[in-house]
Amino acid sequence: MEAVSLSPLGGGGCHYKEMKNSKGDIYMEKRSELLNLDTTHFHVFYEEADKNFAMKLFGLIEEFYLNICQKIHSSPGENVYELYICGSAENFIFYTGKTKEDYQDWMVGNTDMDKKRLCVVSPRAKGNLSESYEEYLIKVMLHEVVHIVFDSICRPEECEIWISEGIAVWLAGQTKMDYISEKDYPRIADLGGKEDMYAFADNGGYDYCGVYVWYLMELYGMEKFLSIYRGECALEDLLVENFEHRAVIAYRTQYGNG
Ligand SMILES: [Zn+2]
Repeated sequence: MEAVSLSPLGGGGCHYKEMKNSKGDIYMEKRSELLNLDTTHFHVFYEEADKNFAMKLFGLIEEFYLNICQKIHSSPGENVYELYICGSAENFIFYTGKTKEDYQDWMVGNTDMDKKRLCVVSPRAKGNLSESYEEYLIKVMLHEVVHIVFDSICRPEECEIWISEGIAVWLAGQTKMDYISEKDYPRIADLGGKEDMYAFADNGGYDYCGVYVWYLMELYGMEKFLSIYRGECALEDLLVENFEHRAVIAYRTQYGNG
């Protein structure tokens, strides 16, 4: 048996999966009972048990999206995104289209730009209902929203990873003072360039990219940052000597409390 497609039927949010039996006949298997809430640009799907989390995300996402569009002077346009709040790892695998082999326990959010679909696991799926974990997951989704908006000005793969991840981390509020060291920060040259996501992650890219992008915008402003993002100007000319160290110091001065 294999799933060949997913088709949401009707407005009620019941989801069916097209399945094939051993003879090759296609039949519809009822997937799960999903509820649905719509904003102008998002169809939010969730299970009743995840309602509280869904409502929080629902209350934030449209305004956040419009805000980011405004920042980059992009009109929100016609795009409508599906947002699946997945109540189990199994559903996360299903709605992201991943295989069981691809799935890793740390994966909590996913964006499929072509399908215009965002997925996030619910706190319930992870067995962690604490407020801080809920907030963490919400930021994961806001991070993805930044990606979908910036994707409209340039495909992220044409951009250095620290730039495309940095703006998402920064605008989603994911930088953490605790993780930022004045001594042990990574050099941008070690953050994987345009391709090496592993080098980026392994060398602390996620912890520092938001700070580096914030500092870049402090130095040159949002407009210049957008032209960097579009690849219109050479980054090397803009990275002042000891950029990383200066960025860390400036960030700690601005946002630290001592
Ligand atoms: Zn990202």
